[in-house]
Formats: sequence, structure tokens, C-alpha cells
Amino acid sequence: MAAMDGADDILIIGGGPVGLYGAYLAGLHRLRVRIVERLERLGGQAEYLFPDKPVYDVGGIPAITGRGLVEQLKQQAFQYPLKLALGETAWRLERGTDLWVVETDRRRYPARCVIITAGIGEFTPRRLDNPAVDRWEGRGVHYVVDRLAAFDDRRVLVVGGGNSAADWAMALIPRARSVTMIHRRNEFQCHADSLAKLRAAPNVTMIPNAALDACLGEDRVTAAQIRRLDRDAVETVPVDEVIVAIGLIPQPGPLAEWGLVMVGAEIQVDARMATNLPMVYAAGDIVHYPGKVKLIATGFGEVATAVESARQALKAMGITRE
Ligand SMILES: Cc1cc2nc3c(=O)[nH]c(=O)nc-3n(C[C@H](O)[C@H](O)[C@H](O)COP(=O)(O)OP(=O)(O)OC[C@H]3O[C@@H](n4cnc5c(N)ncnc54)[C@H](O)[C@@H]3O)c2cc1C
Repeated sequence: MAAMDGADDILIIGGGPVGLYGAYLAGLHRLRVRIVERLERLGGQAEYLFPDKPVYDVGGIPAITGRGLVEQLKQQAFQYPLKLALGETAWRLERGTDLWVVETDRRRYPARCVIITAGIGEFTPRRLDNPAVDRWEGRGVHYVVDRLAAFDDRRVLVVGGGNSAADWAMALIPRARSVTMIHRRNEFQCHADSLAKLRAAPNVTMIPNAALDACLGEDRVTAAQIRRLDRDAVETVPVDEVIVAIGLIPQPGPLAEWGLVMVGAEIQVDARMATNLPMVYAAGDIVHYPGKVKLIATGFGEVATAVESARQALKAMGITRE
């Protein structure tokens, strides 16, 4: 009974944008909520991987930086009492008699429902695994960008053809002296509007069918060797900075051992965002279902469903906070 008294109604694993929004929604129902987050700060990928990049595709907010969005989410969530366990990784999930127990590095937290919003787990950028490029990391080569001002008036090469790469290139248009964007494939895969804007920008050069062979320089990068894959030619382009944005490697970490049905690194959920474990739900980048799109906006919708499912389940147990 002591454990029951101290138990959270909902324990959220992962304090990224989706976990934060879930905490707010649970607070709206006056449910007792805790977030367990392995890092020292809340905000997930938006806080750690693109704090300075504009986000254009969250409903009702035409443009906001990653960190700006996290600040707004925190403000929204902290309208209600919210317990935090920062710098604690959820290592184990065990079923007690009526409760789940989430074990972290420091403590064991009993909870009636668990919502997993663990995103891509650790933030591991996909690397080129080319020593001729990677040895320049910290000396012109960037796998993570935390301050766009560092690129002011620089000649920047962006490697990648997806939305993240395009977003970086777009954010650099008003700042960088020049932006060259290369992609291995025939076509860039980013939003059509980003493509049109990049093509129209006078300081941007887009090169499809191209790969980065090597960076050149003495102490820092001063040029890049770019291989044209369609004609097997190599050209040397002067650049000061190289941003490699070819995606992230999902690493679910400990939760892969919790008996959840997984599809690759993702947790399978149904339309209620329920996992195969009772009273355990999931939302955001970590989930798998047909048609899943990895966006903040979709994660917000999923966690709204997950919180509602948890609320209904709690109500069926006779737990309401009205
Ligand atoms: C460069 C870049 C640009 C992007 N731009 C956009 C954009 O413009 N618009 C958009 O909609 N999306 C964008 N995205 C995608 C967006 O960041 C993700 O869809 C979003 O962050 C998913 O949120 P989440 O809360 O599900 O996961 P995450 O942001 O990954 O947060 C999950 C959190 O869970 C924590 N965690 C993981 N495992 C554990 C554990 N065992 N115990 C405790 N904590 C744990 C992690 O530390 C992390 O803080 C971008 C992504 C990148 C990399």
C-alpha cells in the first residue's frame, strides 16, 4: 500500500518534445505525472541536435527554433505539478502486483501507467565512416550543429538530401557566404518548397549524384573533394565548414529487453498507442505502425491518444483526480 500511495499515475520515459507534451496533457486531467529523462536537460533532439534550427511544420507556429519550441513546451507542461528525474536512464521495467516499476540508475519508481516516448534512444548521427572526412571533426566537419552563428560568412558544404539537410541549408542562406548541398542520389528528398527555395537562392549550389570523398586543409578544412557519381569525376570545392546531415541511427537501448513487441528499433503500437504490455503506451519517434511519419506534429497527436488511453484505463481502475 505504501508503494501505491507514492506511485505515479503516469510515468513518462523520455523528456523530448513528445514526452513534454504528454506531461502537459496528463496534467490537464490532474493526473500525477513524472518524466524520467536520461539527459540532464529536457527537450530531446530539438534541444540537443537542432537548438538553433528553425522548425516550420508545427501547427499554429509558423517558425520557431528547436530550443524555442522546447521552452514553450516546458512552459505548457509546468503549469501543472510535474515530477522530474533528469540524468536518469530507465534501465528496467518490471511488473509488480498492480503497478509497473521503472528502475533507473538511482531509484525505482512505481507507476500505474507508463508512456514510452524514448524517441531514437541515444542521439547517434549516422556517420560517413570515411576517415578522410571524419578526422576533420571539430576542425570544420560537424555531425551536430548547435550554433548557426558559427557559420556566418562561411563557405558551407551540406552533405545529405533529406529534410534535415535541406533545413540546415535554408537556415544558412541569409548567413553563409555560400552553401553547396550534395546528395548521393539523383534527386533531393526534401520538401518541394524547400527545394524550390534552395534552388532560387543566389548563394546555394545543389549537386545531386555527388559524394564527399575527402576534406582537405592544414589545421582546418579549406576544401572538399567531391566525387560526381554520374560521371566518375572528382572536383575540389573551397569550403570552410562541412555539415553532414545523413540521419540518425535509432538505438532503443535498454527497452529492447522489456518484452515489448518491436519492429527493428521501434515499438509496435495499436491505434490507441497501446503496446503489447498492459497499461504501457508509447508515442513519438519510438513507435511503429503502418504509415508512421517521424515528425513532432505526429508525435503530439500520438501522445494525446496515449494519454487518453491511459486516462481511460486509470478510470476503469477507479482512479480519477477530479
Ligand atoms: C537535425 C534534425 C532536424 C529536425 N527537424 C525537424 C523539424 O523541423 N520538424 C519536425 O517535426 N521534426 C524534426 N526533426 C525530428 C524531430 O526532432 C523528432 O521527430 C522529435 O524530436 C521526436 O520527439 P520524441 O520526443 O519522440 O523523441 P526525442 O526528441 O528523441 O526525445 C526522446 C527522449 O527520450 C530520452 N530517452 C531515450 N531512452 C531513454 C531511457 N531509457 N530512459 C530515459 N530517457 C530516455 C532521450 O534522451 C530523449 O531526450 C528533426 C530531427 C533532426 C535530427
